[in-house]
Amino acid sequence: CGIVGYVGSRRVVPVLLEGLKRLEYRGYDSAGLVYLGKNGLVKHRAQGKLLNLEAKLDQVRQTPSHIGLGHTRWATHGSPSELNAHPHSDCHGELVVVHNGIIENFRTLREELQAEGHVFRSETDTEVLAHLIESFLCGSRCDLVGAVRRALKKVKGSYAIGVLWTGEPDKLVAVRSQSPLVLGVQENDERGCLLASDIPALLPYTNRVVYLEDQDLAVIRADGFEVRKLSNGRKVKRPIHTIDWNP
Ligand code: GLU
Repeated sequence: CGIVGYVGSRRVVPVLLEGLKRLEYRGYDSAGLVYLGKNGLVKHRAQGKLLNLEAKLDQVRQTPSHIGLGHTRWATHGSPSELNAHPHSDCHGELVVVHNGIIENFRTLREELQAEGHVFRSETDTEVLAHLIESFLCGSRCDLVGAVRRALKKVKGSYAIGVLWTGEPDKLVAVRSQSPLVLGVQENDERGCLLASDIPALLPYTNRVVYLEDQDLAVIRADGFEVRKLSNGRKVKRPIHTIDWNP
């Protein structure tokens, strides 16, 4: 029920954990995170409280990774188990997705993908997103934004998603469709961008916030962000708002 993502100069694991703690109020039954390590994506997931996830992260807190995604899950499809906790991956473990919401036509999509040889590991509706996006990354036109857009054209439901792919390791792609999602943009002396379900997760790092509109697709990198319309891929301007805060 909460999403957080970060790319920037800080070490990513503490940023994700702090963000997830600040989204705890939204409710959840399991949690997980993923970061891009030296040898690929590394996932950690746990059933129950964030403390259970934290307990698994002792060895990796200071890992020198600067990009990743975190998730607190409120199960809608599939039991609240570690296996069903997000992030979910494609067959090769090279693409990961975190998702809030419900994919209504996931059964049909899963059957189609299984017929093409995709092997599913969880009971969630979310996992179809990882396989579907991956299926559009094959071939000569390997571009993540294009693949996410083509995949979501087939999806019915409500979602806020964050996607990380090892093929384009410097960016996170986020889409908002009937579920909340905001961006955070750090100032010049600290390079970095965040995405989150709600503002409290951003506030330890920045008070500069971008409100995404419904059907927006955002790409965030350490040095900035861009927003496009999901439908036609055209760039749109979204202003940065500065939030007043009491430190
Ligand atoms: N429908 C997804 C699941 O059950 C996402 C739930 C959520 O929003 O946390 O895994």
